[in-house]
Amino acid sequence: MNSKNLLSSIANISDDTEFYTPMPGGYKPGKTKYVGVFGTVMSGLGKGIFASSLARVLKDKGLTVAPIKLEGYLNLDSGTLNPFRHGEVFVLDDGMECDMDLGTYERMLDQNMSRANFSTSGQIFTAVLEKERRGGYLGRDVQMIPHVTGEVKSKLRQLAVESDADVVFIEIGGTVGDVENAYYIEALRQLAFEEGPNSTCWVALTYILQPPALGEQKSKAAQLGIKQLLEAGVQPHIIACRGIKPVTKKAREKIAMYSSVPYERVFSMHDCESVYVIPEMVREAGLDSAVVDILNLAERLHPEAEKTARQTWDDYLSKFRHAKETVTVGIAGKYTSVRDSYASVIKALEHAGTNCGVRVEIDWIEASGMKADQAVDKLAHLHGLIVPGGFGSRGAEGKIACIHHARTSGLPYLGLCLGFQLAVIEYARNMAGLAGAGSTEFEDNSQHPVIDILPEQKQIEGLGGNMRLGGQDVVLTPGSLAAQLFNGAPEIRLRFRHRYEVDPRYIDQLVDAGMIFSGKAPDYPIMQVLELPVSTHPYFIATQAHSELTSRPLRPDPFFFGLIQAAVDVKSRQNKSPQTV
Ligand code: GLN
Repeated sequence: MNSKNLLSSIANISDDTEFYTPMPGGYKPGKTKYVGVFGTVMSGLGKGIFASSLARVLKDKGLTVAPIKLEGYLNLDSGTLNPFRHGEVFVLDDGMECDMDLGTYERMLDQNMSRANFSTSGQIFTAVLEKERRGGYLGRDVQMIPHVTGEVKSKLRQLAVESDADVVFIEIGGTVGDVENAYYIEALRQLAFEEGPNSTCWVALTYILQPPALGEQKSKAAQLGIKQLLEAGVQPHIIACRGIKPVTKKAREKIAMYSSVPYERVFSMHDCESVYVIPEMVREAGLDSAVVDILNLAERLHPEAEKTARQTWDDYLSKFRHAKETVTVGIAGKYTSVRDSYASVIKALEHAGTNCGVRVEIDWIEASGMKADQAVDKLAHLHGLIVPGGFGSRGAEGKIACIHHARTSGLPYLGLCLGFQLAVIEYARNMAGLAGAGSTEFEDNSQHPVIDILPEQKQIEGLGGNMRLGGQDVVLTPGSLAAQLFNGAPEIRLRFRHRYEVDPRYIDQLVDAGMIFSGKAPDYPIMQVLELPVSTHPYFIATQAHSELTSRPLRPDPFFFGLIQAAVDVKSRQNKSPQTV
């Protein structure tokens, strides 16, 4: 039976067939192809970066792509995960709180993701159990195979239907051999069988060790990792070898031989200067052509579109490579020891820097325990300051001290979410005569709770998925700094993740004291952007949103772009008259 027949013969469920594969309505077999990326040897290989780069190159060729990240953990989303352990929680426009890899996809593809692009084991099992309670399995015992794997396949095909993509990119979290990912791998094995030849392309990402004491590349760990994939019934079509140096012919030959993958399809994907160089590396190695061949996609390509897309990327890369001048931006945070917890802020700074023609050096400022009088010294060498998002009271006073210094010394400042709220507190205390102003997030009986819980949050119990989340429209005041940054746009869209806001009862006092609220929610008194007049401070702006989440290499976030421009000005003024700034 060929694959088309196999697919059409699959009944949703019946007692006389074991081919249980729920098929979403509107699914067109053969329209969407699937690329799966599996990690072997260890986690942290940059699977998301690799998969998104490959997806980018295929998109440049004129194909439509839709990625999906399959996570093994049982949480329903990433909302309750600690950024110390898992990196930042990325928020999508539809409010989904997900893995930071989705940020990599959005940036690399310049394409918004939705909850259809992210799955966890928790979501899969919930769907299966809900169906079971509804009697959806017609008296059958519900099993990992075929029911749980069926749910996974259904999710992948659902994405194919919704996106109508030429290629769905599937990235499986963790490493082959993890118990929690085993059923995802089994689902992909089944998918390949059902969809038939030239429909799926499996890429094993592996790691070539190079112990300094030996000075030689060792491929055994990679071979054993790939063997685990073969044991699961998945024959990779392509192997991409990560390593600190270009992977030698000898190591690649051994891997080719051991895993039955032609040598020409074993590629070196070694470390490089920036993630934005990887698409170029993928193309130069010919990895993209291998995928096109395997999936029989040649007829769907648009070579003309590819030329323009490549030119745009090449321009970005050449700006990145030629930027020599540096500015130093401080990030005052709580999770400064784990950079992944600020991944998007770092990226947004890189985008803004590259587009301004400078390199941004980041100075991590541990705010916990910092005293007011220490801020002056600790921030003296900076050209700009960011207080990013965060939760809880630890480090709050130190961050307020940093903001106070930035406001009173003319140091360019950008506040993000918590950094917005703390700027309000600092201003309330020192400019609006509201001594003891604070946030009810930090203390219940602050004298002036200028930051208070959002009304809709008061009713909500528990911590999962209950904040004001996702994309929201923001109306900008014409003529304000914010409006200028966004080229005069009357309304913009930003991403949010917060429980607290400026208490509307204090807005008039803050405004009377000189604070400008230049961005507001359209039908609700939530303040979303604040700024100080440019006549009193070169750049003091903050947003209740996480504007770092929507920054893209080719479209840097305007708040960050403005910060870097202001930082460049500060630096050039310092260079002209070192004593006066
Ligand atoms: N803790 C603050 C709130 O919940 C800020 C949140 C954030 O910075 N993401 O509103």
